[in-house]
Amino acid sequence: MLPDRRGYFKAFGGKFVPETLISALEELESEYKKAKKDKNFIRQLNYYLKEYAGRPTPLYFAKNLSKHLGYKVYLKREDLLHTGAHKINNTLGQILLAIRMKKERIIAETGAGQHGVATATVAAMFGLKCDIYMGKEDIERQRLNVFRMKLLGANVIPVSSGSQTLKDAINEAIRDWVTNVRTTHYIIGSTVGPHPYPMIVRDFQSIIGKETKIQILKNEKKLPDYLIACVGGGSNALGLFFPFFKNREVKFIGVEAAGKGLSSGKHSATLVGGKIGVLHGSKSKVLEDRFGQIKTAYSIAAGLDYPGVGPEHAYYQKIGRAKYVSVTDKEALEGFRMLALTEGIIPALEPAHAIFYLKKLKGKLKKDSVVIVCLSGRGDKDLDIVMDYGKNQGEI
Ligand SMILES: *Cc1c(COP(=O)(O)O)cnc(C)c1O
Repeated sequence: MLPDRRGYFKAFGGKFVPETLISALEELESEYKKAKKDKNFIRQLNYYLKEYAGRPTPLYFAKNLSKHLGYKVYLKREDLLHTGAHKINNTLGQILLAIRMKKERIIAETGAGQHGVATATVAAMFGLKCDIYMGKEDIERQRLNVFRMKLLGANVIPVSSGSQTLKDAINEAIRDWVTNVRTTHYIIGSTVGPHPYPMIVRDFQSIIGKETKIQILKNEKKLPDYLIACVGGGSNALGLFFPFFKNREVKFIGVEAAGKGLSSGKHSATLVGGKIGVLHGSKSKVLEDRFGQIKTAYSIAAGLDYPGVGPEHAYYQKIGRAKYVSVTDKEALEGFRMLALTEGIIPALEPAHAIFYLKKLKGKLKKDSVVIVCLSGRGDKDLDIVMDYGKNQGEI
């Protein structure tokens, strides 16, 4: 099973970090391996996932959308979780690991603030000190989430280097971790970073796919034909896909953000439009310019706005296990409205990309084909953005 012992998914992954972090990564990996087999840890994690976060989430048969599209659509309702997205699955798992390792301080990076909020939430609940790195530009764009983190007792540290966005915040968080590694655990928010993070985050998010498998077998008495999820760093997608990896008949589609269009250069479609490279401690695909500099990613959905992607996705793409496509801002807004109008569910702009892609399958599937979409988060956080954009109203 991948990753291998060195943290590689064949050609992708690894640990490209300063020497001082190697022992911290090894400590994390060995603690995680012990925790995974520890009944107490598993019981504790399941307790918080259920009683605090609200699992299991429903697998909802979207009847109206299905009728509209001509095949069966189910939505995995991660939007109903505490804090409004799947990120809490991972932050709960990682803070329990941090407590096992007797760390007294948590750091994290955040772009849109979603991972920052999920981290500040669990840090407040478990009473750990929490510092969140956030680009200055993002702090201005995401004032409400900054306020939320502060209400939860976290300290938000502005990052003014580079493009003052997520990738710079990650660099600063890594720098902090190098200095304070004995007392501090770094909670990475997606299936990215050096080994063992991509594996740990995938495993904590796999609860999504494990529940889905049980639920769909109960409802349909068969496995789904397609699993579809949006891909930023790739954690909600891998959480859904991974438990179905060996079920070859189940097709995976990852939807990236094409922003203003791939040819405009303003996008975040790393798998569709990127190259192989190293970013934030692992080898995967990245967005870089012709001089090899990391480009600033762009998407209307802040959670997809990242110039890298998890190494396991690069591997799935290479072996053809998953197909990766991209959807523009404009199309995602169409997906957003389509779900609101047909099902009365306002999605976050990230999964709205996956919802839009359903339209591309219209007319190509049989009436009883089953497609499951990971509804990774709810749309409350995005209403301002949609309101500003809101000229072309309502066609579905
Ligand atoms: C952060 C976020 C994403 C993107 O992150 P992944 O690691 O790719 O899942 C997607 N949807 C929502 C709602 C998010 O908050």
